[in-house]
Amino acid sequence: MVFSTIAQSYFDEFPFRRRARRKPSSGYFFLSHAHSDHTSGLKSSLTDPDATIVCSKETEAVIRVLYGIPQEKCLVIKPNQSLDFDKFIVHALDANHCLGSIIYVIESKEGLKEVYTGDFRLGSPILDELSLIKGANHLWVDYTYGKDPIFQFPSREVLISQIISLILQDENYPERDVWISAYQIGKELLLKTISEALKIKIWALDQKVRVYKEIGGEWDIFTNDTDSGVFVGSRRMVEGLYGIKKQNQAKMSDALRISPTGWSARLRKKRLDVHFFPYSDHCSYSEVHKFIELVTAERITKI
Ligand SMILES: [Zn+2]
Repeated sequence: MVFSTIAQSYFDEFPFRRRARRKPSSGYFFLSHAHSDHTSGLKSSLTDPDATIVCSKETEAVIRVLYGIPQEKCLVIKPNQSLDFDKFIVHALDANHCLGSIIYVIESKEGLKEVYTGDFRLGSPILDELSLIKGANHLWVDYTYGKDPIFQFPSREVLISQIISLILQDENYPERDVWISAYQIGKELLLKTISEALKIKIWALDQKVRVYKEIGGEWDIFTNDTDSGVFVGSRRMVEGLYGIKKQNQAKMSDALRISPTGWSARLRKKRLDVHFFPYSDHCSYSEVHKFIELVTAERITKI
């Protein structure tokens, strides 16, 4: 549970159902992005008419489709925007994680500073605004791959071109289906580049299609049409052939299956018929340690 003492409220937690350890007094809840491990209790915020969810416009669209959160419940903040909340100031930075993810920097009028990264990947959107983050009194940092130096990842751009080459060099493409694993939200840069390179929309489950249609513009890249030839599904589905109708299993096991995941560096039982790439929307081991060193925070909480 991450509680901002400056803003007197929570990051990525909406503890309305159970008794909160600390009562929020500001009424503002800060949502970094819409991955399910960051939206605990989100729907219960509807029970409090005074609760306002601060998030990006993309996250607002996602939680509207997935959780039925009405637009007027959200206060939208853009990357590189600052909002003055009277007792404190909130700055948002592009977290370079999934679409619409943001890092929060909260400053008190007395000059105290808290930084909450949510999930992030170190890159130019963050490095360009380092002066804003530096010298935080308290830093909560996404430490997903921070414990083991085995987690070193090439840039996402390098891996995207490797993945596209793999598809285009497959002698059976486009007759052979392509399956790529991804969560409900995320890996957008990879999927959008594939969609553009192959000049197709990517098949996805209905809810994912609706989410990205709602975000709209250049991100409307998914379809319900199975003629697409390129499919996105969960890792369980793509790697383990779970959740597939029996009659489709043979076709699926015959497909070109691609799993882009940071965990691939340490998977013990790697399936030989799945192509793994260490593609990650989180920092590598070195990136997170570099970030911690650059921020020079007084107190650090690894999450
Ligand atoms: Zn995430």
